[in-house]
Amino acid sequence: MSQSLLFHAFGVRDGYEYWKTEYGEGCARFFLTVKPEQLVCPQCQSQEVSRKGRRFRQLQTVPIGLKPVFLVTEVPKCQCRACGHRFEGPPPLPRPMSTTRTGSKRSSQISIR
Ligand SMILES: [Zn+2]
Repeated sequence: MSQSLLFHAFGVRDGYEYWKTEYGEGCARFFLTVKPEQLVCPQCQSQEVSRKGRRFRQLQTVPIGLKPVFLVTEVPKCQCRACGHRFEGPPPLPRPMSTTRTGSKRSSQISIR
């Protein structure tokens, strides 16, 4: 599985790198890691960020043939060296996340004239 095909087929966005594929019982898992340049402090936008470990987030994506396919994306745990803010890596794939901790409220109302 080439990276470009993977990215096209599954909508994997820039900033992720193909790592490996594992085949389980009747399914395939594609592992993706986060590119270092994606790690930017959300608080102060500093790129002086230390990794403090990581976890993985798995989500099911479009099957190949009849095989279920999972994308396993790395979620790096980071700490900003400039301001000390701790955060987890960038939100992975285009999918609504339930937890948003930024205080910004997005208005859903659009005025049309
Ligand atoms: Zn910071």
